Amino acid sequence: MTKVLVTGGAGFIGSHLCEYLLDKGEHVVCVDNYFTGSKKNIEHLIGKDNFEIVEHDIIEPLYVDVDQIYNLACPASPIHYQKNKVRTIKMGTVAMVNMLGIAKRTGARILQASTSEIYGDPKVHPQREEYWGNVNPIGPRACYDEGKRVAESLNMAYYWECGVDIRIARIFNTYGPRMAKEDGRVVSNLIMQALTNQPLTIYGTGEQTRSFCFISDMIEGLYKLMNYKEFVGPVNLGNPRQSTILELATLIQKLVRVEGELIKKPLPEDDPVRRSPDITRAKKYLDWSPTVTLEEGLKETIEYFKSVV
Ligand code: NAD
Ligand code: UDP
Repeated sequence: MTKVLVTGGAGFIGSHLCEYLLDKGEHVVCVDNYFTGSKKNIEHLIGKDNFEIVEHDIIEPLYVDVDQIYNLACPASPIHYQKNKVRTIKMGTVAMVNMLGIAKRTGARILQASTSEIYGDPKVHPQREEYWGNVNPIGPRACYDEGKRVAESLNMAYYWECGVDIRIARIFNTYGPRMAKEDGRVVSNLIMQALTNQPLTIYGTGEQTRSFCFISDMIEGLYKLMNYKEFVGPVNLGNPRQSTILELATLIQKLVRVEGELIKKPLPEDDPVRRSPDITRAKKYLDWSPTVTLEEGLKETIEYFKSVV
């Protein structure tokens, strides 16, 4: 049985991953400090054979013996990481070294949850892994973007220098049940606003695009990347279908059956104008591409938010 460490296992993506790995018969050690995640996300897993929870801040060293590590722990929404800038940089540096240290000592394979943010406000569309990005190193998003970039560099350094078996997943915007309802991300904000009859907040013109990947597709992609025989270097995981934020808002209104107003708010500084993954690499090596449409995924997500509203 494979013993798998999932850091950030009580978060949105992490809790789905823990569930998926347990269903595959793996032994899961979920490590979280509940900074942005919640015990509620994993309470249905507590008591299952092969599931362990460790409350721990991975900025501090951790000693476990495992076969695989999914390193997901990190504040992920702009609201959280911008309020906790130093901590966020430490996740890409100090915590990353701690996790790579476990991989080096135990021989475990490690998958780093990187992000489309490493492309910054991209000048190349869609974004291929070869593109180096356009990131402001001193702006409000820098703690996250540059933290994730140096985390990738650390992974490559541990691979070249110590032979650590690394995987780098560049995750594009992912949504689904168990997103935190107050973390300010666009899908959770707009659904919560629609369900509570408040105006939907559109930052800037709403013409900026994102590509939204449903959680079940993302989990499959992460699992396939982790278990692919050998792949060094980053792999984009995301849904290539782009939507403008206005299109997203209109679709959410249609699905919730509300005709509420849209209100415009200022566009946050350095907010990327366009974002969409080129997933040729994931298709070719992992035989992976998303299957859930935005409408199907939003319906499921809306049902979840109805239960927590
Ligand atoms: P999330 O906030 O729901 O999950 C992050 C988890 O990490 C939380 O449970 C939090 O409590 C935990 N955590 C934070 N700091 C920690 C620490 N020092 N020690 C231990 N645990 C800690 O966010 P998410 O959306 O599930 O994101 C998971 C990962 O995927 C993150 O690394 C994020 O950067 C990456 N990612 C997510 C998206 C997305 O659209 N959701 C996109 C790109 C990348
Ligand atoms: N956004 C918006 N209204 C909201 C929240 C976000 O228009 O209530 C916009 C935000 O400016 C960005 C996009 O939606 O252009 C996605 O924002 P999110 O914070 O979800 O993710 P990220 O910017 O990290 O991709």
